[in-house]
Amino acid sequence: MSAKTNYHTHSNWCDGRDSTERMALAAVKKGFAVLGFSSHAMLPGSFLDWTLTPEKAPRYAAEVRELAARFAPRLRILCGVEADYLPGEAEPSRAAYAAIAPDYIIGSVHFVRAADGAAVAVDASPRELADDIRDHFGGSAEALVQAYFAAVRESLQFDFDVVGHPDLVRKFNLKHPYFDESASWYREELERTADAIAASGKIVEVNTGAISRGWLDDAYPSAEFRALLRRRGVRFVLGSDAHSVDALDCAFDRFAAAEDYVDLTK
Ligand SMILES: [Zn+2]
Ligand SMILES: [Zn+2]
Repeated sequence: MSAKTNYHTHSNWCDGRDSTERMALAAVKKGFAVLGFSSHAMLPGSFLDWTLTPEKAPRYAAEVRELAARFAPRLRILCGVEADYLPGEAEPSRAAYAAIAPDYIIGSVHFVRAADGAAVAVDASPRELADDIRDHFGGSAEALVQAYFAAVRESLQFDFDVVGHPDLVRKFNLKHPYFDESASWYREELERTADAIAASGKIVEVNTGAISRGWLDDAYPSAEFRALLRRRGVRFVLGSDAHSVDALDCAFDRFAAAEDYVDLTK
């Protein structure tokens, strides 16, 4: 089994609850070899309350680098970002985050752009999602889900390393079903997206964040989606998407041995 690693970690620099130091101390206690911080990167104006800002970004990087020096060699700490793709507003590219000089970038899609121009979050709450489908997607959950996967495929053109939770759009689908994951149109989206990810050469994260939050009983990507990716030779890293110390290795005992995970420190 490979060393215990987590590359998807939030802190109070963005929307996490705990400091980077508390997260690092917890990682040592839980036997991690590598801890990668991935604060939500800067987004334009309206979203700034849960992300880094241009002013905070260099201070975040300096703090994580200082922590890395202090915890080496017992814990390898990396400074990454989780960067959004939102067409026309945010690109998950290395050039956009030069101020941080991140060790790695997770490229994530949390919003889709509706035909009327609205930016719709797919992971806010079941209620908001239902309202947004009604108001911005003509009542068609299928249209929203297809727009989501199209955005994930589009995001792959940018210069980042790890594809974050590539089927985040499933988040509420277990507790508040709004589309059929066995439908042929959905399976086609997974196939097309798996093809695009394999062609991009990017790594995909196995993200246990929806398990710790009680929304799903499987990781992103789903078992079916992981199998499609694996069949195409795509490789994985494991991430908890932790926003507090207690979630740092949520469900890792279930997923740690499932893959030969990539070591991003090499
Ligand atoms: Zn995310
Ligand atoms: Zn995250």
